Amino acid sequence: MKTLIPTFVLALAANAAHAADWYAPQQPFAIYGDTYYVGTHGISAVLITSKEGHILVDVGGPEAARQVADHIRQLGFKVEDIRYILNSHAHQDHGGAVAALQKLSGATVLAGPGNEQVLRTGQPDRADPQYPGLIPMAPVARTRALRDGEVIRVGPLAVTAHFTPGHTKGGVSYTWQSTEGGRTVDVVFADSVFALAAEGRRFSGNPLYPAAQADVERSIAWVDAVKCDVLVSAHPEFSGLWERKAKQATSGDAAFIDPDACHAYARVGHEFLAQTLAQEHGKDKGKQKGKGKP
Ligand SMILES: [Zn+2]
Repeated sequence: MKTLIPTFVLALAANAAHAADWYAPQQPFAIYGDTYYVGTHGISAVLITSKEGHILVDVGGPEAARQVADHIRQLGFKVEDIRYILNSHAHQDHGGAVAALQKLSGATVLAGPGNEQVLRTGQPDRADPQYPGLIPMAPVARTRALRDGEVIRVGPLAVTAHFTPGHTKGGVSYTWQSTEGGRTVDVVFADSVFALAAEGRRFSGNPLYPAAQADVERSIAWVDAVKCDVLVSAHPEFSGLWERKAKQATSGDAAFIDPDACHAYARVGHEFLAQTLAQEHGKDKGKQKGKGKP
């Protein structure tokens, strides 16, 4: 598979206004077994369902709330039956709609440390590499910080939280198993593993988050190593979800199974990190050269 950096990432890096695409409409659809895609076209939201209640992984930015709630109802499920809303990271495009969905559902909201505080207060983390480019969000009720490796259970559902920091300090990815037609697969909801800093801030050697680079490297390694049949990433196009979705009509839900998807996602993460570091080191060299000049 090609490991070109998606134009979306480059656009993000250039601080381009890409938000319009986040909310492009998207019909909800079954991914595998009890697992459904209920997000917008640009931001993933995944519903894991059971007779005893549901788990919603991510929601999207503020304008996604109504679409996600409609998608859940369209599939025949009740928003009120969501027991937990899990957050990947608390940037506006993934955390902005959590407050609204929490209110509708009454669910408990679980997030990584730091990100839980951002959701609870609505205020961005000053140590975030993308600060001050981050937008405040509506404060979320009923939040709780996750532990690494914690298993979130609802009836027969069991979702494991894996800390994948770096993009944010408290980033979390999630794994669970889904069964369809007698076949059980490992599903991964991967958080963003992209080294991205706001204008004027650094990703490497960031004094407010010295471990940012090491954290991203560890998170990429986790993505590369995790048991992974079906991958959904926080931004769906980063993991080729739409290319796999296009094959669903002929191949059924097996279209979403791709044993290389997590490796490919890790490669994109590596490539992005390399590009960010090269840019930052280039700037350092430029400064050193500049010092010698009058
Ligand atoms: Zn982000």
